[in-house]
This record gives sequence, C-alpha cells and structure tokens, in this order.
Amino acid sequence: MNYIIGIDLGATYAKIGIVGKDGTIIARSIIASNDTDDYLVFIENAATATDRLLADNNINRKQIEGIGVGAPNSNFFEGTIEYAHNIRWGHDKIVPFTDIFGKKMNIPCLITNDANAAAMGEAKFGIAKGMKNFVEVTLGTGVGTGIMTDGKIMYGSNGMAGEFGHCKIITSRTPRRCSCGSIGCLEAYCSATGVADSGRETLALYPDRPTSLRRYNPEDITAKIIHEQALCGDRVSIEILEETGKLLGKAFADFTRFFAPEAIILFGGLTKAKDILMPAITESYDEHLIPIYRDKQKILLSSLPEYDAAILGASTLITG
Ligand SMILES: [Zn+2]
Repeated sequence: MNYIIGIDLGATYAKIGIVGKDGTIIARSIIASNDTDDYLVFIENAATATDRLLADNNINRKQIEGIGVGAPNSNFFEGTIEYAHNIRWGHDKIVPFTDIFGKKMNIPCLITNDANAAAMGEAKFGIAKGMKNFVEVTLGTGVGTGIMTDGKIMYGSNGMAGEFGHCKIITSRTPRRCSCGSIGCLEAYCSATGVADSGRETLALYPDRPTSLRRYNPEDITAKIIHEQALCGDRVSIEILEETGKLLGKAFADFTRFFAPEAIILFGGLTKAKDILMPAITESYDEHLIPIYRDKQKILLSSLPEYDAAILGASTLITG
C-alpha cells in the first residue's frame, strides 16, 4: 500500500488527489460538488471519479491505504457532514459520508473539517513544521479555524470544535447576517464574501464619497476587485481592507487569550491582500493583547500551495 487519496470537498468543487507517502501529489481530478440535491448521487460521482483517476495512473484500490476528506461542517468522530449550509445535498441533514463512501470504495475513509485539514497539512508540510500549538485561519468564502493543541487537532466533545469564524465580534457596526444564520459573526465581515459586502455597504452609506469602486455594479464587487482598486490607490478600498485587518487582529487577540498559540497562520484567497491586511492585523493584534502575551506569538502566512493544501492536509488523516 503506497498511496493515500486526499479529497478537498468544497462548496463548488471536490478536488481528488493521489498522494504519495512523502506528500507528493501524483495526480489530481476535479468534479462538481454542488450539482445535485441527492448526496448518494454525489458520492457515486466521487467514487467514479476516484476509480477513473486510479485507472489513469495504473494504480489499483489495493495500493490505497486510506481516503482522507476535508469538508465543511464535518464531524471527525461520526464521519458525517452536518448541515453544511453551502452544499445543496447536505444543507438540511446529517450525511453519513465516510460510511457510505468508504464501503463503496472498500477503503478506510476519514473526514475532518476543511480548516482542520489545512492545519494538518501546514503542520506536516508547511510553515508550522515543528509547532505543537497553533491555529490555521482560512480566509476564503468563509472564515475557518483549525486549532492544533499539543500536536493534535482540537475536536472538542462532539468532533466539531473550532468554529471561531462564527464568534459574534461585531456590535457597533451595521448588523450583518452571516451564512450560518446568526448576526455579527467574524465571517460576515472578514471573509472574502464579507469584504465584498463591506464594499457594497460603503457605496450605499456614503453615496457622495469618490471611489473607483463606483465603476462596478455593486453586485459584481468582489474582494479581488477591492484589492485591485486598493493597489491602484483607491482610498475607500484601502480603508475597507485596513478595517478588515483591524477586526481580524482584535479577534486574534481574543483567541490568544484562550489558547496562547505559538502562531496564528493565515491561509486562503484573501491573503493575496497581505500587503495591506498584515500591517493592520499586527497593529490591532498588538494593541489588544494583554501584556503576558506580548512579543510571544507570531502571525504568519501559510507556506502551502493554495490549490493542494486541503488535499495534502486531508491525506494526513491517514498517514498521521
Ligand atoms: Zn456565522
């Protein structure tokens, strides 16, 4: 048995990789993850795609040690995906994913939250090598956290610990509804989606303020556009990213009070705006830390390749 299958199951696509023991991804495949309301149809599609990938690379199932899956709202203890609000086939139910997929493939299958998978990949292959206490913060469509304590992912009592993105940190600004249904979550302001919403909110609240964001239809504004305009010197776009960084820094200071990590490691699409985000994050973080933590924790950027990180991380569910 020489290989592991790592699967990065996202809200739009599932990326499937054959991973060697040394962390080399030998081959990849991608399928739609959100084009059916029936989870059995998706699992059948995933099994078919995995078999095709194996056949294309002259590898048989007996050479696969296990399948590791990173997916939103996953329960490591139960092997389930629970009420994953961004996935059509899983938003309103508990899906017994590893049970069905593992039996279909006749290969052991484990699942964990996608941010946990990124943290595990970071610990084994990335900048967190050698660290035993750190948190991986994924800044993408949402805000996810994988918490490593004493060298192990923290799963909590029910297998689902680490939803720091849904802490309610906003009390003073316009209340904003989060994808989880609550109001004022960190994710509603500091994810890529939240940054885009900040752009729309600013345009509506300050109709007379000049900004190059007005060239765009508000519905088309994305975090990427705001970053591009910020790089061109647009003051409003710069302020939106700086405000996002300040909120993150304050939230990270709160997190540090609970867990005292060696490092907080940032991963995901929004980190492309690091030149503006990072100074704002570190300034706010230092401002809100209490003295016993000052100068002890680091805020770092992930060194994992974005496309492969969750595949590699999920594969470590099997290899450890
Ligand atoms: Zn939320």
